[in-house]
Amino acid sequence: MAELRGVGIGLGVAQGPVARMAEPLPAPPDTPSELTPDEETARVRAAVSAVARELEARGETAGGAAQEVLEAQAMMAEDPTLEEELDTRIAAGKTAEFAVYDAFHSFRTQLEAVGGYLGERAADLDDVAQRVIARLRGVAAPGVPDPGHPFVLVAKDLAPADTALLDLDKVLALITTEGGPTSHTAILAREKSIVAIVGTAGAKDLADGETVIVDAAAHTVITSPTADELSRAQTRARARAEAASAPITPGALADGTPVPLLANLGSPAGAAEAVELGAEGVGLFRTEFLFLSQGNAPTVAQQKASYTQMLQAFPGKKVVVRVLDAGADKPLPFLNDAHEENPALGLRGLRALRASEDILREQLTALAEADAATSADLWVMAPMVSTVEETEYFTTLAREFGLKTAGVMVEVPSSALLADRILGHADFASIGTNDLTQYTLAADRLLGSVASFQDPWHPAVLRLIREVGAAGAALGKPVGICGEAAADPLLAVVLVGLGATSLSMAPTALADVRATLLTHSLDDARRIAEAALAASDAADARTAAQHAASAQASATAAAH
Ligand code: PEP
Ligand code: MG
Repeated sequence: MAELRGVGIGLGVAQGPVARMAEPLPAPPDTPSELTPDEETARVRAAVSAVARELEARGETAGGAAQEVLEAQAMMAEDPTLEEELDTRIAAGKTAEFAVYDAFHSFRTQLEAVGGYLGERAADLDDVAQRVIARLRGVAAPGVPDPGHPFVLVAKDLAPADTALLDLDKVLALITTEGGPTSHTAILAREKSIVAIVGTAGAKDLADGETVIVDAAAHTVITSPTADELSRAQTRARARAEAASAPITPGALADGTPVPLLANLGSPAGAAEAVELGAEGVGLFRTEFLFLSQGNAPTVAQQKASYTQMLQAFPGKKVVVRVLDAGADKPLPFLNDAHEENPALGLRGLRALRASEDILREQLTALAEADAATSADLWVMAPMVSTVEETEYFTTLAREFGLKTAGVMVEVPSSALLADRILGHADFASIGTNDLTQYTLAADRLLGSVASFQDPWHPAVLRLIREVGAAGAALGKPVGICGEAAADPLLAVVLVGLGATSLSMAPTALADVRATLLTHSLDDARRIAEAALAASDAADARTAAQHAASAQASATAAAH
């Protein structure tokens, strides 16, 4: 067997034969057009409009987040700037095919230069261009293959139009050679609970029909697996399916210690599903999604409506709302206009809000109004807090607005190291392990080339979390976890062993984490955490925790 590494999305494991996505259409030649510019323009307008309508129709069939993505792609196709670019090229005597190829390519380069969220939309643009060129040539757009049996789909990077209508009975797993953890492939795979590994450069050599194991939890694709490996993967897949159908109980350890399991949500639209999957509240409501879709900050009334809708879905339950986290991977033109060489180290999160305090005040106003109108237990917190002074600033301001429970996210090592003083001012801390890992390991969380550093199992990250857990215990203040780490079942046990009092995650991860917590007592969790802390790197920490957990399981079985 051989192992290919990528970035696993979720925790699933699947196996099956590979089917590769067709290669993109070749670039059209730059030969002079034999038609008049008017004729070429008419062709291109018809093709663009047909593609936009087709994307909208696919969106309507798919519904949910996929629909939003496909509608955005349809708008991209008909973008007026792009239309002008097409016209300029056609006026210069180019064919419609070449004009599309060239104009989209230059637009793509611009998006990639911006980087971050917009950079990852480059694949969407490629897909639109391919579809328009295919239509102009009268050929089928490259799409998902249909080998006539279930398969593991291998592609460069899937476009939303492809993932939206994937036949889940046929697609056993997804592997992409490009794309990061925030690409559309990753977002949609998470939403649909498809086993997926993105950014697996080595997968380019996989051949149609060869059997692979896709292990998202371990971030690996195993090629030429042995019979033993195949059977172990199947046992794990079965155990996961059982965990998913186990009864929904409040999060707790084997000894009954409660560990509330909360949901990370980006909009009120996800609330109903989270409740269905057993979320006991919301541990992280990322409010920036409300702002990202607009050119300006939403009004107080718009914000109040959205927050009220979210709070109403959780009557009597805790809902932790994070104020706007703009900058770095979530840039907002009206807040982050300055050019920064290193935006992750720039004016982001609470720093950006402080620089535009009216936006923060409006958000706190809307939150206080929504709080008054509903019965949920609203907690508010600030992102990217790096000093005690910032903590005092935010919690004082939030309380001025009548918000009773004000805390901070611990995402920067300085805050973890001074957690005892931070928690002197804040009512609670919530550890954002995605950023905490990025800043501890000095590895940009959006860069595929340093993705292997972005591992929250790293003992340096675990030590910082232990500091926060200890400070919380000493002061009697809650310490939640709301980064992706909480969704890794064994790491969730370690986090509780380090002092986390609640865990918040994508709702689809709740069942796995709930089932694993129930197999360890608090003492076990502390011992497993000690084993991980004693390791020298992330891989060793994971292995040490796995060994400690299975030794624990054997001891428990022997005692019964
Ligand atoms: C984090 O950094 O872990 C976190 C939860 O915030 P976000 O991923 O939105 O930056
Ligand atoms: Mg963060």
